Amino acid sequence: MTHPDDDTLAAIALGDPAPSGAAEHARSCPQCAQTLAALRDTLTTLHAPAPELVAPPQSVWHAVESELDREADAAASAPASVATLPAAQPVAAQAATAPAPAGFTLVGTTTITYRDTQNVIHDATAKLYRKN
Ligand SMILES: [Zn+2]
Repeated sequence: MTHPDDDTLAAIALGDPAPSGAAEHARSCPQCAQTLAALRDTLTTLHAPAPELVAPPQSVWHAVESELDREADAAASAPASVATLPAAQPVAAQAATAPAPAGFTLVGTTTITYRDTQNVIHDATAKLYRKN
């Protein structure tokens, strides 16, 4: 039998019905057994209780503020560096060059990439401003 596809291995890991012979194959095939073990590890991690969230100590906020101050100072002293982001990052470049709202200075951007429930990949860019 050929190796079951990833969806079938995922179904086996979840305990869902799988085509006959697939589970037996996964038990006896080292490659599929390894994939299955990795999928089960991932499921275990996903089902683990979330750690209790605690507020960071004040020193973390001070460090963040001083880092933002440092980046704002660097941007103010070298404005050209903000406008020369690589072309491979159009979203970040757009965000970085968009004018800041009145009374605020853009001090940084961050982009996260995520998949939605339809497995479509999206980028979300957040802008970080400092009040003037
Ligand atoms: Zn296999």
